[in-house]
Formats: sequence, structure tokens, C-alpha cells
Amino acid sequence: MSEILQPHGGHATEGYGRPKEQGADFTHGIALYLEKVSVWFDAFRALNDLSLYIEEGELRCIIGPNGELRCIIGPNGAGKTTLMDVITGKTRPTEGTAFFGQNYDLAKMSTEQIAEAGIGRKFQKPTVFENFTVMENLLLAAPKDKRVKKSFFSKLDPDAQNALDESLTQIRLQEFINKPAGLLSHGQKQWLEIGMLLMQRPKLILLDEPVAGMTDAETERTAELCLELKKNHTLVVVEHDMSFIDTISEKVTVLAQGAILAEGTLAEVQANEDVIEKYLGR
Ligand code: ADP
Ligand code: MG
Repeated sequence: MSEILQPHGGHATEGYGRPKEQGADFTHGIALYLEKVSVWFDAFRALNDLSLYIEEGELRCIIGPNGELRCIIGPNGAGKTTLMDVITGKTRPTEGTAFFGQNYDLAKMSTEQIAEAGIGRKFQKPTVFENFTVMENLLLAAPKDKRVKKSFFSKLDPDAQNALDESLTQIRLQEFINKPAGLLSHGQKQWLEIGMLLMQRPKLILLDEPVAGMTDAETERTAELCLELKKNHTLVVVEHDMSFIDTISEKVTVLAQGAILAEGTLAEVQANEDVIEKYLGR
């Protein structure tokens, strides 16, 4: 048992950029299982017996599966960030279980092991290195063994080069490649951070309030980016911005007081009496 739960233990890494042959096992079509998860902070229950299943699409294409794009909404304090903390190992469930695919028991893995197993997370605030260029930020985000040790920028590992090109294309920051990240707009920093996540080639991407503080145009661009990412990743997006959610959403999960209040399309959950009462207000 411990061997399959241990991503360092004998998992052949086939090479950068290709799926790890023995990575997360999504054979039952589920990328993420949370069962009866509770998180207590002293006497306060931030997550309350929460069960959540995020589906994984077919896993046959080479670059990766088409995943589900799930939106999670809910009032402040509902437990949305705590949920992401549980998935990424930052907070341990007090009760319940959390699995990535069939085989990775998240509660038994370190945050580093979880990232290596293919879960990438973007926090609410961008954490780019302002004094480094866009390219340097992306390269610093590449897995350590893929960075070129000696002369960091003169010679790039070809796989790292591919990851860099793909990532830059996706976040559309090519023209800023040699600019310090500190000169980017708030929205561009957020995209850079998504690009940094992509350097790790995650299977599951968690985005916590990606459009907070963005202009309308940046929000629209971020919606396009999410829909593009969805082609090759499973995405879990926490957001408040309803028009953004309307553009990208398939299934929406509404969280309130640490528990799931409703699940369905955005129209369905918006019509739900409990959601109206506890979240949307009248
Ligand atoms: P959301 O992201 O939905 O706004 P959070 O997951 O951040 O909600 O927080 C859920 C609740 O748990 C809040 O009441 C918050 O104050 C509490 N909480 C979160 N993290 C901690 C912590 N480390 N210690 C104590 N309470 C916490
Ligand atoms: Mg939050």
C-alpha cells in the first residue's frame, strides 16, 4: 500500500513533458475524491462532512485527458480556500479521506509530493518574482531536475524549452518575455502565475479567485484561458464573479458553512432556494 501512495517510490518518470506512466490512476473516471471531509480549527468546523467528486475525462490522448471544469462558489468563510488547502496538503482533514485518482492518498503525502503527483494550485494573490523577467519566472517554476544547472539561461533542456513555449503561447505573454514581471499589470501577473503552474505539467489545476481585481477585458481573457486549459486539464475554479462563471462553467458546486449546499448548472444553483437564501440573498 505505502508503495503506491508514494510518488517517489519507483514511479518511472518517462521523460519531461510526457505523462508519467504510473502517475495518478483515473481509470474510474474520477480525478478527485473527497469523502466526508471535516476540518476543525479548534472548536470551529471549517469543512463539515464534505464529499466532492471531480470527474476526469478520457485518459487516452497523449497530452493528457480532457477534464472537468468545476466552479466552486459560496460566501466568504464558506470553506473554499480550506478545501483547496486540503487538496494540496496544506491543511490535513481532521476526519474523512481525500484521494487523487485511485491511488494517491492526499492525507499521507507532503505538499511537494502532491505537486509532483500532478496537482497545481494558484493562490489568490500572485506570487511572481517581480525582479525577474517573465521567462525567468517561468523557468524557475520548471521542475528542479529540468532546469539547467550550470548556465541557467544559455542552454535550455529541450523539454523545458517546449514547456516554456507552450506555456507562453497559452498565457499570451510572448511580447513580455524579457520584461521584469514587476512591470506587468495585475491581470498579466495572474496569467504569468498560471503559466508557472503549467511548467509543472499538472493534471489537476486549482485556481482560487483568478479574476479578483481584474479589469473586464482581463476577466474575459482569463475565461478564454480557462476554456483552453480545460482541453488538457481538470480544473477547479473558486470564484465570486458570476458573469465569469457563466462564461466558463459546466457544473457548479455551492459551498456554505463548510458543506455543499447545491450542485448543478449555474442556472440550476441560482434557482435553488437554499442558495438564494444563504448566498445570493433573497
Ligand atoms: P472561503 O475561502 O470560502 O472564504 P476559508 O476556507 O478561507 O473560506 O475559511 C473558512 C473558515 O475557516 C473561515 O471562518 C476562516 O476564518 C476559518 N479558517 C480558515 N483557516 C483557518 C485557520 N488556519 N485557523 C483558524 N480558522 C481558519
Ligand atoms: Mg478564500
